[in-house]
Amino acid sequence: MDSVYEDVKSILENRRIRSEILLKLKKDQIRKEHPEIESIEQEIDKMTEDTLLAALEGKSCEDLASRIAPLEKKRDDLLKDLGVDPQILLPEPFCKHCNDTGYIRKPGKDGTVETDLCVCVRELLAPVMLSRSGVENYPNYSFDKAADSFYEGNATMQELFEKLRKLAEKEKLPNAVFYGKSGKGKTFTAVSCARAYAKQGRSALVIRQAEAQELMMEHRKAIQSFYMAPSKEKEIEERVGYLTQSDLLVLDDLGVEARTPNTEADLLYLLDTRMLAGKTTIITTNFDLESLKERYGGRFFDRIDRSFKMLRFTCEG
Ligand SMILES: [Zn+2]
Repeated sequence: MDSVYEDVKSILENRRIRSEILLKLKKDQIRKEHPEIESIEQEIDKMTEDTLLAALEGKSCEDLASRIAPLEKKRDDLLKDLGVDPQILLPEPFCKHCNDTGYIRKPGKDGTVETDLCVCVRELLAPVMLSRSGVENYPNYSFDKAADSFYEGNATMQELFEKLRKLAEKEKLPNAVFYGKSGKGKTFTAVSCARAYAKQGRSALVIRQAEAQELMMEHRKAIQSFYMAPSKEKEIEERVGYLTQSDLLVLDDLGVEARTPNTEADLLYLLDTRMLAGKTTIITTNFDLESLKERYGGRFFDRIDRSFKMLRFTCEG
């Protein structure tokens, strides 16, 4: 498992432990102040313990469990009589949205239930995802910077930018090729998308195609070599893992890389692996579609033609 996910897991665990300890302290306090509820509390404790034991031994515990609720009701009534709000005996999680489980359930399409990462986890992940994504190399490339000024007087581009922003900030972006002459905001928009993903704790990576190619070549060498220092091998594995598995990959500036005999095969492998995993890839290129087809030929071009949205970045309004 990715080390950052391990960290999040243990933070959530600590938060749950913390709220259990707080609850225990609160309960002890109330029991001390109101000895009247002590005997019921003891009964509840006993019943809870028996239920757990039965469950651990694989016995039916429904019967035992069903006896807890009436006891709790009795205790709560007694507390109310004593002028104490029974709500005080509920655990107080660090995050009220997810009770420190880290995920929330929300209604999905067609009456199904979907789970989603809670905002508290996204907040924990965001700084890590931002620093891993490479967007910090492009400090001003962000949806926060007004698109109006970037695409001033260009209604088509403003509309496209807005559409992408909404998808990046709330949903999932489709695979896309941003093409058109240089200086039309392709990288700006693609990096803005990656930043929006990372800010929500989703994994994103911005990498120039030339570097991605280099990395895949190193990976191949590592697989083929008889020996490579384990630390080096691990580092390459991690980087390739991020390249193939991040929620959003921006493959920047396709076409300027030096051609090698493996360029097309590597690109195909990368796109196929990502598509299979349901991950989004955005490719930016200064080439027009004809030149792309000419340069990369059949299979690669077919793949993007079929599975990618071709978005032309223009300066015409
Ligand atoms: Zn939460």
